[in-house]
Amino acid sequence: MHQIKQINALQAYRAELRGTVGFVPTMGALHAGHLSLIEVALNENDHVLVSIFVNPTQFDQSSDLENYPNQLAEDLRQLEKIGVTAVFTPDYAALYPDNYNYQIIEKELSQRFCGAHRAGHFDGVLSVVIKLLNLTVSDKAYFGEKDYQQLQLIKGMVAAFFIPCEIVACPIIREPDGLAMSSRNVRLSAVERKIAPELYATLINQDSLADKTSHLNDIGFEVDYLEQLDDRLLIAARLGQVRLIDNVPISAGARS
Ligand code: AMP
Repeated sequence: MHQIKQINALQAYRAELRGTVGFVPTMGALHAGHLSLIEVALNENDHVLVSIFVNPTQFDQSSDLENYPNQLAEDLRQLEKIGVTAVFTPDYAALYPDNYNYQIIEKELSQRFCGAHRAGHFDGVLSVVIKLLNLTVSDKAYFGEKDYQQLQLIKGMVAAFFIPCEIVACPIIREPDGLAMSSRNVRLSAVERKIAPELYATLINQDSLADKTSHLNDIGFEVDYLEQLDDRLLIAARLGQVRLIDNVPISAGARS
């Protein structure tokens, strides 16, 4: 497996690849959720590129960025084992030669749900994803439904800018107790980890949205939002220092 850090090295490497290329962008601290995207990409493409880059422009809180888990050596071992062709691990200077003076801004959906609570978050997400799609020139790029709002915004950006890449949506991978896998879960305390699965359990029960919210707030969450988007029910809630997000098809739970 090739580990590539520089832009020109990635472009030279990409120019030599023949056949289809699938791309999976990540922020590292890989878990079974990430690996499920990569497995689908491996099944559908001749080559799979993965990026690991903790993108500072999408963090609205410096403490969240500073505490974001980092386990690059272990991530690289896992990627090599499952047959990834190359991993792109740029630093900020490489990926942002413009120092983020140029940004992709979406003006509607990005302002709602997570965007209403994390100023500039989706500007950072869309800006880094368009750079990565342009660099990897991938036929297909794989994103998790775990970040449902992000997925919709990326699909919208690709359509708006005529980017010739198919966006493939992959289902949410959960722990056996229902908690959606997330790199941030390791930051939950032992007590919080026991409470955390209640987020999903509450999403899929038949209570009203108001009852779900008050139940979660009663047991220690601080709910940022619980709202419908398309045919999904989306939630974000803080548990101690950790912000958790999740979503389910509307048929799985919830009435308003
Ligand atoms: P991240 O490293 O958190 O930026 O995530 C990289 C990609 O993995 C994004 O497309 C996420 O939606 C996806 N992802 C993260 N967690 C999960 C999960 N539990 N199930 C499925 N996809 C996930």
